[in-house]
Amino acid sequence: MPNFDSLVAFPPSADATGLWYIVGTGASVLVDCEGAPPIGVRSPVETAEPPIFMGLLDGVPAWAVGTNEPSDVPDGYQWQPLRSLGAQLDTPSWMLAGRGVQLVEWARTSRFCGRCGTATELATRERAAWCAHCGLNAYPRLAPAIIVTVERGDTILLGQGRGFQGMYSALAGFAEPGETLEETVRREVREEVGVEVGVIRYFDSQPWPFPHSLMIGFFATWVSGEIQIDGEEIVDAGWFKADSLPEIPPPLSIARRLIDDWVSRQD
Ligand SMILES: [Zn+2]
Repeated sequence: MPNFDSLVAFPPSADATGLWYIVGTGASVLVDCEGAPPIGVRSPVETAEPPIFMGLLDGVPAWAVGTNEPSDVPDGYQWQPLRSLGAQLDTPSWMLAGRGVQLVEWARTSRFCGRCGTATELATRERAAWCAHCGLNAYPRLAPAIIVTVERGDTILLGQGRGFQGMYSALAGFAEPGETLEETVRREVREEVGVEVGVIRYFDSQPWPFPHSLMIGFFATWVSGEIQIDGEEIVDAGWFKADSLPEIPPPLSIARRLIDDWVSRQD
């Protein structure tokens, strides 16, 4: 697995040649047929947006830069949606592509100070868009969201979200200002399926750059209430045994890893 060191300032000792994570107009990235970004001293396509130094991937500088997605790209390269790239890459490489997409999107939406309207510049010591006029720093936007499986005896609660097309997954929702993650877990489970949970245990986390979520995974145990779906976000939900699971999310997602972990703990 490649190793990534996150850095803001370009280290003077590093080779100028680097990996270019070139981000198109949507969440698409310029990659070769194996999902690798172009490598060189500069971006191989025209880019009007400022390059953002992300850090070193196995010692090689990694850059993110936005462009208006020109159709003439170097031979062997193509624009590929970040989402589908996940199937081709190891997790650290896919995460780095996701980091590039998020940073470019942040730079695009932080060009002017939110307080005084002056054009911002990228800070050199930290990841921030800095206003030279009033001193405001705009940091990259991150939306923390919980994702949780509820356990009850030998069953697990999975829900079908609107637009899931038959797939059942862990419940999820964004943290609100002023809320702890544990409070978010209790509220989301209550709102979406009408169930109360007791013990909550942390599992793992995963950046989810669609567009800027940080998924924080938990296991929770049922204490009371029967399923009453909200009918808005969740269109169906049920308690499932390990040997009769419905269609569940693909392996890359933290939702799938939550479910797999629970399955591995069943007899
Ligand atoms: Zn300002």
